[in-house]
Amino acid sequence: MYLQEMTAFLKQKSYPKFELKAVFFDMDGVLYDSMPAHAEAWVKALESFGMPFTAHEAYMNEGRTGNGTIDGVFQAQLGRIATEEEKQSIYNAKSQLFEQMEVVRVMPYALELLKKIKSKGIHILLVTGSGQPSLLEKLEVSFPEIFERERMVTAFDVEVGKPHPEPYLMALQKANVAPWEAVVVENAPLGIASAVAAGIYTLAVNTGILEDDILLSEGANAIFSGMEELYQQWDHLFS
Ligand code: CA
Repeated sequence: MYLQEMTAFLKQKSYPKFELKAVFFDMDGVLYDSMPAHAEAWVKALESFGMPFTAHEAYMNEGRTGNGTIDGVFQAQLGRIATEEEKQSIYNAKSQLFEQMEVVRVMPYALELLKKIKSKGIHILLVTGSGQPSLLEKLEVSFPEIFERERMVTAFDVEVGKPHPEPYLMALQKANVAPWEAVVVENAPLGIASAVAAGIYTLAVNTGILEDDILLSEGANAIFSGMEELYQQWDHLFS
């Protein structure tokens, strides 16, 4: 099944071959089971500024930078983008609420999968819309010796962010690989759209509340029920 899908992908893209040299991991909803807390923090923060917002909307916006999400809500509800001050106040409120919530747990099987990939000499890069200042220390505690700052794309690196292909194009550059030498692991519609637009083979893990169809319609090449299934299928996919 996977081989067929990969063959079709290479043909469609006119890529010469597939040779796995790097795997790009999204963070929230892939490495950390943090989306329920992010969604709740967004709903509460926006409501405290008088803007109704649902958890479903939070999941649909997942992967956007904070500013991008806030501008989207302002556009939809007030017909204008937010001022810098508004963006800062709302994003601060959201971050504070998020940090007050219980400790976010590592996604089951994330560490096992990262170790498996690393043991094969394949590069691992983080590609996230997150801009949490504590990101690096947190990653080093959860996934020791897996990530390096020079091989990471965060909210601090990008101009536009997901769903634009920019973050994944930047990841290709940082990993120094061609699109047919990488795969992406993503859980959110906008993240998948970004990876697909960058021309990279994209694996969706559905760890959230959205339908599989929403992730597949963004162009994911394969879909898994979670990191455990992806971990179990990995050798089958890329041996
Ligand atoms: Ca995500």
